[in-house]
Amino acid sequence: MTRTYPVPELNTFEKIWREHPDQTHLETLTTVRYRGHDLPVQAMRVGNAPPSAPALLLTGGVHGLERIGTQVLLAFLKRFLQRLTWDQCLQAELTQLQLFLIPAVNPSGMLRHTRSNGNGVDLMRNAPLDAEDKVPPLLGGHRFSTRLPWYRGNNRRMEPEALALCQFVRKNLFSAPFSLVLDCHSGFGLNDQLWFPYAYSKRPMAHLAEIHALKELLQASYPQHFYVFEPQNLNYGTHGDLWDYLYLESLEHTRPFLPLTLEMGSWAWIRKNPFQMARLAGFFHPIMPHRLKRVLRRHLLLLDFLVAAVRSHEAWLPASVQKRRFHEQQALRDWYASGS
Ligand SMILES: [Zn+2]
Repeated sequence: MTRTYPVPELNTFEKIWREHPDQTHLETLTTVRYRGHDLPVQAMRVGNAPPSAPALLLTGGVHGLERIGTQVLLAFLKRFLQRLTWDQCLQAELTQLQLFLIPAVNPSGMLRHTRSNGNGVDLMRNAPLDAEDKVPPLLGGHRFSTRLPWYRGNNRRMEPEALALCQFVRKNLFSAPFSLVLDCHSGFGLNDQLWFPYAYSKRPMAHLAEIHALKELLQASYPQHFYVFEPQNLNYGTHGDLWDYLYLESLEHTRPFLPLTLEMGSWAWIRKNPFQMARLAGFFHPIMPHRLKRVLRRHLLLLDFLVAAVRSHEAWLPASVQKRRFHEQQALRDWYASGS
């Protein structure tokens, strides 16, 4: 018997899984109980590549209001699995790439139409990590009240969804020779942005050369792409960012782990349809059907690019000391105003 959840995206995710039993494996990482509903946080593995293969993880729905991220991933997954039924190149590709999806990290937030989870905690402020510099009041994370957005939660105990995500990353990504995450959000600014760590610090990350090489590769592969690619801290700093926390932990290993956040610029949707402001969810989600379709299509190229870039990481990662130095200098000049 199939279960039905009060969050439509969870039903779509399970339906896709049931339709592709040979190519997918579904795992429940934790179950969150909210208002009498049991809501699973589920991870899907696509294909059967060994743990020695590089890994790509796609996540969405960390903020319950930003369900467009979940929907972009489900649209990608559907298309990807359909292609996998006949495309022999893609089938071969998946023997050399571990592909994982957690499209709805915060199902209770999706159910109650809030940014935070059912306990009123913002999962992207929930990691036990304080910012080095001053952060914007409230937005940067606070411990005043669960009634205000951006509440960080208890500093001794992470929320079950955040814990489950961290455990999944440690188990499946840290052991891969190279891994990359794309976490899909919406709601900040006019442009689509790709952010990399840090949120908690203005300092450059250790893998600056690798990130810069990825940016150059995207630029060379899709010169017409529209993403603004930069460190999150250039936009604003925060406490408790889960990707900062995991990235810092990953530095204990020698293998690169690159977490990226996609911020879909929803202000452009509002500019085109000011009536969206009347609905809170409209700030974070395109309401007009034609615009929704366009947003779903818009990011497929990026997702395809990341699949190829992760699988072929050895071809573009800067390997020599000279190449790393070159990319680091460019990156410092582009993003930190201190190239030397
Ligand atoms: Zn978000």
